[in-house]
Amino acid sequence: MPELPEVETIARDLRPLVTGRIVTGAWTDWPRVVAHPDLDGFVTGVRGRRVTGVERRAKWLLLDLDGGLVLALQVKMTGQLFVVSAEAPRDRHVHLAIDLDDGRQIRLRDMRKFARVGLYRRDEAGRVARDGTDGGDVFAHHGPEPLAPDFTLARFRERLHARRGRLKPLLLDQSFVAGVGNIYADEALWRARLHPLRTVATLRPDDERRLYRSMVDVLGEAVERRGSSVDDYTAPDGDGEMQDHLQAYQRTGLPCLRCGRPMRRITVGQRGTHFCSWCQRLPGADRAGARALLAAGQAGQARANGRRTATRRGPRWTELPGEGVLGLTAEEQARASARARADRTRRAAETRRRNARSGAGG
Ligand SMILES: [Zn+2]
Repeated sequence: MPELPEVETIARDLRPLVTGRIVTGAWTDWPRVVAHPDLDGFVTGVRGRRVTGVERRAKWLLLDLDGGLVLALQVKMTGQLFVVSAEAPRDRHVHLAIDLDDGRQIRLRDMRKFARVGLYRRDEAGRVARDGTDGGDVFAHHGPEPLAPDFTLARFRERLHARRGRLKPLLLDQSFVAGVGNIYADEALWRARLHPLRTVATLRPDDERRLYRSMVDVLGEAVERRGSSVDDYTAPDGDGEMQDHLQAYQRTGLPCLRCGRPMRRITVGQRGTHFCSWCQRLPGADRAGARALLAAGQAGQARANGRRTATRRGPRWTELPGEGVLGLTAEEQARASARARADRTRRAAETRRRNARSGAGG
């Protein structure tokens, strides 16, 4: 799912393609794509407006329109944006098209239809606000931008000290910092050598500094590499390449790039979480709580899967993999199967992204 670096890349690609153009109309076959105000209000609201700029806030794209309006778009899980000729054929996954006065369209292609678009207003303070009496700042519940110059270590510490709980869910919490998702939370924690289930209370000043540095660095690097094209993410000007430089995310069973031991995967808050249990040690104070959390998660998972009993449990993060097969050591086997699985997933996603571009008329 696109996170800060991916959405930033889409914004940067889109900017030269649409800035200065006038919106001449909008089409959708999926009215629920319009989150605000409603379909009619959206279509009449955007018509005749000039695009004056393209920005990103959290995981949203913001197209400023003249007259103080903002077209905000969230690609969510599988949304892809392309700018193509209005004449180009499109497949059935294109659910929104915004016509531009140069004969091109911004097309939103979305296999799972989770993407949302809305028309809002810039208020006097420059915030994106809803119209009408329910008014208010659309991003009121979003934390600061981690790549903003004023997001300093001191500011990070201040926010951290106001929180409790464990690091992985905290990094995913958009009200803590905006834009971090599953990929870059795992990457930041691996770089900082902090266990995903570590509690905020056990962090020492140096841990806090490493976490801040790792998060800011990995996000900045990912923006430079145009994001991670895993799954369906691609941008108007093409795929990213950060997926080839990830050090933790989806590397289950592969050797840790620091210590060589196999990377582990656990589920935290229903999110796959990748880490090295050697480099990312859990302090004693956090162990009992973490174990209870994982056991509860597995029981919940078993119930969700409709199993009759919740007693059967998968491998725990504290255990080494079981016996090998075909003469491979457990580590080699885990590595080989993880690599095969990752290759299959990557090939399938590449095919999907290739189809996406032609499906959207590119
Ligand atoms: Zn390691």
